[in-house]
Amino acid sequence: MNCPFCANPDSRVLDSRPSDEGSVIRRRRECSKCKRRFTTYERAQVEPLMVLKRGGRKETFDPNKLLRGLTLAAMKRPIDPQELQEFAYGFEDSVKEMEITSEEIGLRAMAFLKRDPVAYIRFASVYREFDGLERFIEEVRRLDKQIVAKVLGEDLEDEFDLEDEAKLGTV
Ligand SMILES: [Zn+2]
Repeated sequence: MNCPFCANPDSRVLDSRPSDEGSVIRRRRECSKCKRRFTTYERAQVEPLMVLKRGGRKETFDPNKLLRGLTLAAMKRPIDPQELQEFAYGFEDSVKEMEITSEEIGLRAMAFLKRDPVAYIRFASVYREFDGLERFIEEVRRLDKQIVAKVLGEDLEDEFDLEDEAKLGTV
């Protein structure tokens, strides 16, 4: 698996142990390039979770893709990367159905990120670009206006263009 921070394909395994009663192998790794540490989880897969995309296309759920979106959103924010990994790799187990819409995945990820408004809004922005989901803008609009204004003023000036701000309806 590529490093979630710099996408370098090489990593060193520091520690390897079973978790979740042995059905999952947890490996602590260190990226050979940026030296940051991350964890991978390997499991035997029975029935893969299918993601229903807009337009009716289906694909197998990819926790790495979800983790990339989360990592981007949480960059330089006080969120432990380990927590993001646990959310992304535990996601499949948290879904009882065989199929989930990409919109639902995004909404659950946003609920998870809600404690950090910057990461929350960034994810909405990133995810919308990935999937063209206008609903995320509606979701963001429901955020407390003061939080959004504060966040836009501080951290997101260079990440939101005027069109986005107009869509958010907060300024
Ligand atoms: Zn790296």
